[in-house]
Amino acid sequence: MIAKNGGIAYADERPYERDDMGILWKRIGISPGKGRPEFGEVHFLRQRRAMRKLLCQVCGGPSDRTPEGTLWLVGEDPSEPGPWKPGDLTGHPPLCVSCAVTAVLACPHLRNRYVALRVRSFVVAGVHGALYRPGGLFPEAHEAGALAFEHWRIGWMLAGQLMMELKEFTVVDLESEHTAYLKRTPQ
Ligand SMILES: [Zn+2]
Repeated sequence: MIAKNGGIAYADERPYERDDMGILWKRIGISPGKGRPEFGEVHFLRQRRAMRKLLCQVCGGPSDRTPEGTLWLVGEDPSEPGPWKPGDLTGHPPLCVSCAVTAVLACPHLRNRYVALRVRSFVVAGVHGALYRPGGLFPEAHEAGALAFEHWRIGWMLAGQLMMELKEFTVVDLESEHTAYLKRTPQ
């Protein structure tokens, strides 16, 4: 990593390594001799795609959308805020109803903590990743966190996830959502 134009850059950077806002993204690690991405590395590409296209974070199909909004489960990550306020950011893409129900049933810890939301307005508002600062010879990573796109330190961020701002939402009961879903979906 090198310092360049008031931020970080790869020494051998290619144009596709920044998004259309000029943010630098994490590289996929290719293990020598294997020729394929290491375990866990593919996840962040999927996360980005799911956020942009509003795909279910589990199955990759369309997330569930009704006139009340798009379905999100939040609160499963202790680093996320609670209670949820409009304007909070999440790194989790939305879900379809079946995957949301399965996820909650499968994880006992999730059952006590999750909040299901129908989100009417939302916007991709920032990135989560490693924040660098000028070092001796090279910039050094000094903390992990989320930054809004317009933040003055965004040039020092190596992004790993897109963050969605949930602007307007209603807290819903997942069980009722499931029942309503089964009614409107021919089995
Ligand atoms: Zn799904």
